[in-house]
Amino acid sequence: MSFDVTAIRKEFPILERKIDGKPLIYLDNAATTQKPQCVIDAIVDYYTQCNANVHRGAHQLADEATRRFENARDIIAQFLNAKARHEVIWTSGTTESINIVAHGLTKLLKAGDEVVVTAMEHHANLVTWQQACLQAGASLHIAPISDLGELDLDAFDALLNENTKMVAFPHVSNALGSVNPIKRLTQKAKEVGAWVLVDGAQGAAHGDIDVQDIGCDFYAFSAHKIYGPMGVGILWGREEVLADWPVWQTGGEMISRVSYSESSWNVLPYRLEAGTPNVGDAIAMGAAIKWYSELDQAAVQAHEKALMMSATEQAMAFDGLRIIGNAHHKVGAISFVMDSGHPADIGFLLDRQGIAIRTGDHCAQPLMDRFQVPGTARASFAVYNTLEEVDALFEALRKVKTMLA
Ligand code: PMP
Repeated sequence: MSFDVTAIRKEFPILERKIDGKPLIYLDNAATTQKPQCVIDAIVDYYTQCNANVHRGAHQLADEATRRFENARDIIAQFLNAKARHEVIWTSGTTESINIVAHGLTKLLKAGDEVVVTAMEHHANLVTWQQACLQAGASLHIAPISDLGELDLDAFDALLNENTKMVAFPHVSNALGSVNPIKRLTQKAKEVGAWVLVDGAQGAAHGDIDVQDIGCDFYAFSAHKIYGPMGVGILWGREEVLADWPVWQTGGEMISRVSYSESSWNVLPYRLEAGTPNVGDAIAMGAAIKWYSELDQAAVQAHEKALMMSATEQAMAFDGLRIIGNAHHKVGAISFVMDSGHPADIGFLLDRQGIAIRTGDHCAQPLMDRFQVPGTARASFAVYNTLEEVDALFEALRKVKTMLA
């Protein structure tokens, strides 16, 4: 399939919107992407045609809902190149996926054990492990990053030892755009026998993912950052690891046999899916991943690279603007600060011009401390953005600079 950004834009109804009479330029895709019509239709179709609880009904609607729901799981399994469909667990998003793993880990860790994360974590992949370590009497170690925003690989390696039980890192940093060498990091962690979790919240929508090739134990991501709905996401886990991972929530669906005195657990994936799942949104996530996977991936990546290159070149040439995060390998987002004003003011004044970006600490306060900034302005890109929109961003930033002067 060829890549035609004009045709792609037509699939996203929200891109027709005006903000105060100005065409919307949506550059907050790292926070959440917009949804194509087929994803919106999948939700409407589910609720208008086959809303029913899955796996348990003895009627046609329940059969149809179950088929669509499990078909969506197949789409995700294929997208990740999972070895088996039951390695794909539905969650409410990346945050819950990481919490499931961290919750289980608290039962497996003992005093003296170590967990390693990086200095560029989103709070979802930091606070969770902090809490797990606190509860278990284990210690958390932070792999440092360079001024460019790249992980210090030697320092990362030096943190690994026979006490390291879990190593977690982002595929792509939401605040810096840095892409981590996840396969290499996984190999090193595996040499000391640690489990590996990849926070794929920002990685899933920006490149091919092959969990078998990466070699990790867990890969977590959210639908809403890859053209799907909010409130649903994935925890992928390697069968051997997931099958024995301590259960998370208990209740319906996740049990095999229950008596008043004891219970036994269901098989994967259900043992980690207690209660009624978010069926409609899971089906819509399947629609989103199918939609995205059918795009020409090489063309998508080339397009996003062109957007990033243009943004980076214009930012570097912009007097009084400093990029935060200059890793050699970046994708999706460019963070910056300006001499003329606070990021919040930049965001506000861009919004007045119809341009939506994100400002603040990006749920990465320690990372902001690391760069000694209160926060940044971040423009982040998706398949439907254009080079003209990048130009418009910098045109608008020139106005912002004048207004703030
Ligand atoms: N990790 C990273 C790197 C993220 O960017 C985000 C979302 N900003 C999360 C985790 C959490 O994702 P969610 O809020 O969808 O659970």
